[in-house]
Amino acid sequence: MAGDSAFAEPTETVERTLIELCPDLVAVCREGMLAFINRAGANLLGAPGPTALESPPFLALIDAPDRAAAAELLARGDGICVIRLLRLDGIPVSVNLRAARLSDGAVALHARDLTDQSEAAAVLRDLRLAEQVFETSLEGIMVLDAGLLVTAVNPAASEITGYAADDMLGTTPPFLDETTMGAESYRQLWNTAAETGRWQGEVWSVRKDEQPFAARFGVSAVMGIDGRPAQYVVTFSDITRSKTDEDRIRRQATYDQLTNLPNRSLFLDRLGQAVHLAERSRQMVGLMFIDLDGFKLVNDTLGHHVGDMLLQETGRRLLLCVRAGDTVARLGGDEFTVLMPNLGNYQNAPRVAQRILDSLRKPFDLSGKEAFVSCSIGITVFPDDADSADTMLKNADAAMYRAKEMGKANYQFFTSDMNDAVAERLTIKNGLSKALERNELMLWFQPKLDLASGTVTGVEALLRWQAAELGMVSPAKFIPVMEETGLIGQVGEWVLNAACRQYRDWAREGLGHLRVAVNLSVRQLRQPGFVAMVEGMIADAGIPADAIELEITESMIMNDTEHAVATLKQLSAMGVKLAMDDFGTGYSSLSYLKRFPVDSIKIDGSFIRDIATDTDDHEIIRTIITMGHSLRRRIVAEGVETREQAVILKRLGCDEIQGYLLSPPVPASQIKATLGRPLPFPSP
Ligand code: C2E
Ligand code: MG
Ligand code: MG
Repeated sequence: MAGDSAFAEPTETVERTLIELCPDLVAVCREGMLAFINRAGANLLGAPGPTALESPPFLALIDAPDRAAAAELLARGDGICVIRLLRLDGIPVSVNLRAARLSDGAVALHARDLTDQSEAAAVLRDLRLAEQVFETSLEGIMVLDAGLLVTAVNPAASEITGYAADDMLGTTPPFLDETTMGAESYRQLWNTAAETGRWQGEVWSVRKDEQPFAARFGVSAVMGIDGRPAQYVVTFSDITRSKTDEDRIRRQATYDQLTNLPNRSLFLDRLGQAVHLAERSRQMVGLMFIDLDGFKLVNDTLGHHVGDMLLQETGRRLLLCVRAGDTVARLGGDEFTVLMPNLGNYQNAPRVAQRILDSLRKPFDLSGKEAFVSCSIGITVFPDDADSADTMLKNADAAMYRAKEMGKANYQFFTSDMNDAVAERLTIKNGLSKALERNELMLWFQPKLDLASGTVTGVEALLRWQAAELGMVSPAKFIPVMEETGLIGQVGEWVLNAACRQYRDWAREGLGHLRVAVNLSVRQLRQPGFVAMVEGMIADAGIPADAIELEITESMIMNDTEHAVATLKQLSAMGVKLAMDDFGTGYSSLSYLKRFPVDSIKIDGSFIRDIATDTDDHEIIRTIITMGHSLRRRIVAEGVETREQAVILKRLGCDEIQGYLLSPPVPASQIKATLGRPLPFPSP
């Protein structure tokens, strides 16, 4: 290898060719100057070819900090070191530089570009990393070709969808196709991905095992050299859980948890919509407010758990009473509504109401415990009674209250006078709280006549309220309000006490035969310590226990039979008399009555009214009297207003009568006057 010109060596064509083919730098350095460099070397230094370098000092091609090391390697003429070459554009390039001394003293150099190597390694590392990401990602990843067939799929994709890789490779993903997405959405997905390069969206799809799942998909297009999508990378994650949570949260916000019926907010929404629609279509919208009668009692006596079951069963029964398209909602507590957005005919409303009344009247079997309730229904109709959703709500509420006032277990249509009633109820509520301290409450008394002897044997104490703003208010109006507000406990005690004292006063005047009957309210009977309280009052007044009679109603004991029977037995054992009031209006089961230690049964005035003309009523009364007597109960007829009624009752064997015929309720001071009167009908 000899020669004279710097770039003449090596001379052998074979060697020369090999050297030119070598992708690394090959050079010869003679006396510190670059004597030869191959094409790859020149390129590495940023020169277009070897001639562009014009034999510079070799060290001029080394980055300044590395020059000493390079000089040493040259001087030694043997070895290897990593240094940075300086390209013509000033950029350093790391190389692995080897030196070997030639026979003529020149030094042959070989340099391999390290940046290239590390880049390759980096690419390789990236690839491995990508592969690892692909394999271990929790997101499903698929690669689709331009024809939307799967060319690669990772394990997570199988995990999420239940399809093995083999199920998917070479096909359109079965969980992301036209059938699962719908043709239109499917078309849009791929159009968007092709046009914009990406698409994102949530899709409800189906796993291989036919279980539904929700996934969030991301699609990105990999563009080919022709500028059109060559491949698509599809990533997706399972969001079924959060989707279901979302649905549940949405449901929680609009549905009642207990009954699964729409709640107040959804109901108001639907009512608003119904009215809005009806305004345009000139349809009728019916609205019912339904309040259970006696629910509190079930809840308090049988427990909240049973109360909850009762509400659930009520919801189910209500749904069976309405048509498809109607909404049954629970507003809270024991308040339900029925919205009939297309009532069609005014007469449909009472039909539905009657169906509801009949359905709720049937006994509830709540995991072995039997409970009875009924309901009071208020009905209003758009546009007949109301011109807006708001007014409908007010009307239905007012009508429902009227139904309660009318003795519960019935339905009432809204009438305009009910607005006054609403206002009145508010005044009553406000006034009642002060009634006791203002001494506005008093007892009036109504005598009862024994038909056999023709003598007055007792009186019923009836509460009266002389209200400052309202005048004389009927107990039918204020007692329900007192029960609602809880005031009845205190007032009930006051009544009992006043009755005991009244008896004592009369006894002192020689009227010791006038037993005083006191009406009880539902709550009183269940009040803890009630029996002891009665006992205490009787003792305080210094009167015999049988001077007092307590009137209860069937509804008070039906839902709490065991406890009620126990309480009544204690009272009865004490000597206190007991009467079943308003008989015939409730469940009126005589066989049931056998279990209660009542001394007398008071037939409700509504049966007496038509006794002379209505053969049914006549028969009912005859039956009650016969059966009552066979159970050794005395029978009292309430609301007797005419001689004719009295005569019939006497003939049927009724024991006692009470009513306007004899005397209306009067203040205590006037009782004496009613006693001396001649009998209003022929005595026996
Ligand atoms: P009730 O216990 O069934 O009382 C009989 C009701 O019938 C009384 O109404 C009485 O005035 C009325 N009445 C009596 N004779 C006749 C008649 O010949 N014809 C007609 N149409 N009605 C007659 P009142 O005084 O308005 O009391 C209504 C209800 O209020 C009572 O019905 C009773 O359930 C309740 N109540 C009255 N006082 C009290 C009380 O102190 N405590 C409780 N818890 N309830 C009471
Ligand atoms: Mg009574
Ligand atoms: Mg009564």
